[in-house]
Amino acid sequence: MSKQQYQTPRGTRDVLPADQPYWRFIRNTSEKTLEGVGFSKIELPHFENAEIFTRGLGEQTDVVQKEMYLLEKRGEDETIQYSLRPEGTAGLVRSFIQNGMSSWSQPVRLFYEGAMFRRERPQKGRYREFYQIGAEIFGDESAQADYLIIMSAWEILNRLGLKNLTVYANSIGCPKCRPKYMAKLKKYYKDHLKDLCPDCQRRYETNPLRLLDCKEEKCKIIAKNAPTTLDSLCSDCKSHFQSTLEYLDYFNIKYDLDPLLVRGLDYYTNTVFEIVEKNDRGRQSTLVGGGRYNGLVELLGGPATPAVGYSLGMDRIVNLLKEQEINVPKIEGVEICILQLGEKAKEVSKEIFDALSKQDINVYFVPSDEGLRQQIRTAVKLGAKYAAIIGQQEALKDEIILRDLSASSQEIFPTKVLIEEIKKRLSKCSRP
Ligand SMILES: [Zn+2]
Ligand SMILES: [Zn+2]
Repeated sequence: MSKQQYQTPRGTRDVLPADQPYWRFIRNTSEKTLEGVGFSKIELPHFENAEIFTRGLGEQTDVVQKEMYLLEKRGEDETIQYSLRPEGTAGLVRSFIQNGMSSWSQPVRLFYEGAMFRRERPQKGRYREFYQIGAEIFGDESAQADYLIIMSAWEILNRLGLKNLTVYANSIGCPKCRPKYMAKLKKYYKDHLKDLCPDCQRRYETNPLRLLDCKEEKCKIIAKNAPTTLDSLCSDCKSHFQSTLEYLDYFNIKYDLDPLLVRGLDYYTNTVFEIVEKNDRGRQSTLVGGGRYNGLVELLGGPATPAVGYSLGMDRIVNLLKEQEINVPKIEGVEICILQLGEKAKEVSKEIFDALSKQDINVYFVPSDEGLRQQIRTAVKLGAKYAAIIGQQEALKDEIILRDLSASSQEIFPTKVLIEEIKKRLSKCSRP
């Protein structure tokens, strides 16, 4: 019988240890940036009642039509159709309603991080299990909230050291001005119907706004001359968008207006934006996408609550950090190993291990009976910077040998000054 070799499912992959410094860098930078401007972290389930997505994202969206991973109905879950989450916002809105967050002090600023699932055609840099960080503000309809949202995403990317970034922004209006615009849009497209791709011919009936961002060349040409949402905004939407842009100007955040930017999901209103990396070869890759969704909380059964947010694609950012050759902080790992010979030395070692651990130093100690040479080999393999060596003699004299494993040099210290010495050396070599 031949051995079965199992593989990751199509469109998924293992994130191996060598890549972890990139992921950690993105997580840490995002958390620090977002918490620094008043966001708090929330964790949400990876699967939810599928209705949250079908109603929230829109029946006719690609995500709902083709890409959701629906779970089998079975046992106690027989009556409810669950789905792996294809995005984070709808689940967060469910949580906002369920936890009565409208009675919390407003606005409520939250962020989440984790895996999302969509059955898309896998391509380079695009996965069926992909990772996002999302930030959302509930209960603030002012342009300040739009600004804070765009700024925080911009700031994360800048703190990561990424270059060649541009914000694209547009406003797609509100329930007051949108219907008038849709009528204009359909009127324009009516004459072009036969020249559109089959998807767009369907979209004309089901989701006309998406006609604007079709990627087919022939549809792009037609979209270029379509009436713009910006020309049809009501005065409220116009002044909201205007002040959002003024904030961006004030803080020197570079943006371009993109009248064809509509985003893929039905819940968006007013401001929509993307942050894109444009490289020298003219390629563009979208790192962040988001916007305002003033109707979603109400749509999912909560009190009318304005909201705005974005999600940031971690997978693409990892690739970009590599492409732009950005140095990411190394994972610290083992800083010092305690090596010992003999019973008395083991006792002393345990005390030193406890003392170093209390100082938040990454210390490795196994009270083994191996020879010193073998123990040193282990310490080197672990990547430790230092070894504290205690033999029978040192244990009796209350001394310790501190060996610098990279320089292969060593010095003897009285046990009681060892901890200070190690702290001094580690801060010298690991924190520039
Ligand atoms: Zn409006
Ligand atoms: Zn098309």
